[in-house]
Amino acid sequence: MSQWPDWNIMNAVFIEKEILNHIIQNATAVHPREMILILRGKISKDQVTITDLLVPPLATHGRSFSGFRSHMLPMDFSLIGTVHSHPSGVAKPSLADLHYAFGRIIMIVAFPYTNEENVAVYNHSGEKLTLKIT
Ligand SMILES: [Zn+2]
Repeated sequence: MSQWPDWNIMNAVFIEKEILNHIIQNATAVHPREMILILRGKISKDQVTITDLLVPPLATHGRSFSGFRSHMLPMDFSLIGTVHSHPSGVAKPSLADLHYAFGRIIMIVAFPYTNEENVAVYNHSGEKLTLKIT
């Protein structure tokens, strides 16, 4: 049985530029609707490394809400969170984002999706984590 890390000390999230570009392209393509993707990755001590993106099953895209049926996903601890877009331009999680969060990290890309300032990542408590692009 594997042990869950201490989420309270998790403070940095690493993502490759290529994966981030893919997220940005996706957000731009569906704008002004929201997009949502599942993040797959690895967790070690106080940091998270995002390694893959998955298209969620039966994703719904709306102007103010992106959801999917998380019960259709396999039990898989490598699914560490989600990324979704905020066409409004605000890179902060809404209360609904925090309440309905799947996994442990919530990444948000905000319009105009052009640079790193439009990208932010949070833990379940809504605390901003450091995003490091590699
Ligand atoms: Zn949101």
